[in-house]
Amino acid sequence: MNNKYYNKLIFELSHAGRIGYSLPKNNYGSEYSFSIPESLARQSDLRLPEADELTVVRHYTNMSNNNFGVDTGFYPLGSCTMKYNPKLNEELSQLSGFNIHPLTPSYAAQGSLEIYHYTQNILSEICGMSEFTLNPYAGAHGELTGLMVIRAYHEERGDLQRKKILVPDSAHGTNPASAAVCGLEVVQVKSLADGTVDVDDLRSKLSQEVAGMMMTNPNTLGIFEYQIPEIARLVHECGGLMYYDGANLNAILGVCRPGDMGFDVMHINLHKTFSTPHGGGGPGSGPVGVREGLEHLLPNPNYDIEEDGFVTPAFNETALGNVTPTYGNFAVIIRALCYLLSLGKENIANTAKLAVLNANYIKEQLKEYFNLPLEGLCKHEFVFDGLRDEFGGEHHGHEYVTTLDVAKRLLDYGFHAPTIYFPLLFHEALMIEPTETESKETLDDFIGVMKTIALEARDQREMVKSAPHTTPVRRLDDVKAVKSAQFTYFTLQPEV
Ligand SMILES: *Cc1c(COP(=O)(O)O)cnc(C)c1O
Repeated sequence: MNNKYYNKLIFELSHAGRIGYSLPKNNYGSEYSFSIPESLARQSDLRLPEADELTVVRHYTNMSNNNFGVDTGFYPLGSCTMKYNPKLNEELSQLSGFNIHPLTPSYAAQGSLEIYHYTQNILSEICGMSEFTLNPYAGAHGELTGLMVIRAYHEERGDLQRKKILVPDSAHGTNPASAAVCGLEVVQVKSLADGTVDVDDLRSKLSQEVAGMMMTNPNTLGIFEYQIPEIARLVHECGGLMYYDGANLNAILGVCRPGDMGFDVMHINLHKTFSTPHGGGGPGSGPVGVREGLEHLLPNPNYDIEEDGFVTPAFNETALGNVTPTYGNFAVIIRALCYLLSLGKENIANTAKLAVLNANYIKEQLKEYFNLPLEGLCKHEFVFDGLRDEFGGEHHGHEYVTTLDVAKRLLDYGFHAPTIYFPLLFHEALMIEPTETESKETLDDFIGVMKTIALEARDQREMVKSAPHTTPVRRLDDVKAVKSAQFTYFTLQPEV
């Protein structure tokens, strides 16, 4: 875009003496002005940009147009469910009556506490769990909380040697990370060629030292773990508990329940499945559910409902203690409840069915162009392993068109890239999750563009390898951006 305000820093639009505000006169006389001790006062002026209001408005408006989000285009990010979040839920979560202070006494927060309690119950029913806490702030926080419940369960029984946690090699990276933070030793379980857990490998790793097993089902490859009853039986038989990573429930919502699959403890990401915009680190919510018999270990406070309908905070001595200082991220909980109530019991399962249908629709139309390592029906997402050889794929040696190239070229067509190079099981993983919220027209557009890119990769390899061509910045050094990020203008332009 050829726009003077685009891609410029506000400092570069600055002109000495230009102002965009006027402050009212101090009507209270000098006795009300502050005096700053000489030693603390600035010796030189602060280097702030000076610009008129319209320049500032244009600068920030144009900058915001550089953002890509679900509200601007298709965002088929596997594993992380970027789906449309209805605006109604935003509006309701911001009603002023919900603006409670964490220390508001419970008698003055009954409406909010009722929402908390009601949401707990609905999630328990959807997941087949006995009770949920809504306190944790994110998926990974929920994992840690859930693993602490598992640890507390073994400690309570005096079963102190259980320090190992089994995690399949297809697991989301937060699983081993949370286990390590919880002081557990991660033992990896292999996958079979069909993407599911290798039960023989699992059997060989079971022992009296195993605290439990963490699983995602459908797993990160979008494959339902059909051996789940046997896996749960084996882990239980050896004294461990089953942990369910329910960050993304899109494939099973209203269709089947982790509790019925044999899981004892689980978390959900409200900010993926239940309508809260996410990305950029929050706010999130990672409720943790447990089966009957483990409720007393959930963190404080919980909320009990009395016979007269009054909701009171309950502090349990056997609980983990607090994992957050408040009612969790309450606005995220409100959005989740609005989402659930607007779908209603009768429509919730349609979410899952459409998410699965949309994923299979894309997969089947693109598998002639991209390597599909796992044939057959997928659930809400699936993984390609790069372009097929006839479309510039791996047999072209070090010049081949990679998954990264495809992802970058997609940006030129106005789509967000899918998740790439995860899961780690495939060399050129490209993980696509369309979600239930996209129209058939959008899915068809995406399929058309992916086919076009495959043909380009075959016929105009250099052009694809140098994509993107239309974005404000092109191929950034991802590692350097993280390792030596520069956040101020003056580290970039020291002499200004
Ligand atoms: C996103 C995700 C997580 C982590 O959730 P955060 O809220 O980002 O901490 C864990 N497991 C799976 C499968 C996920 O997709």
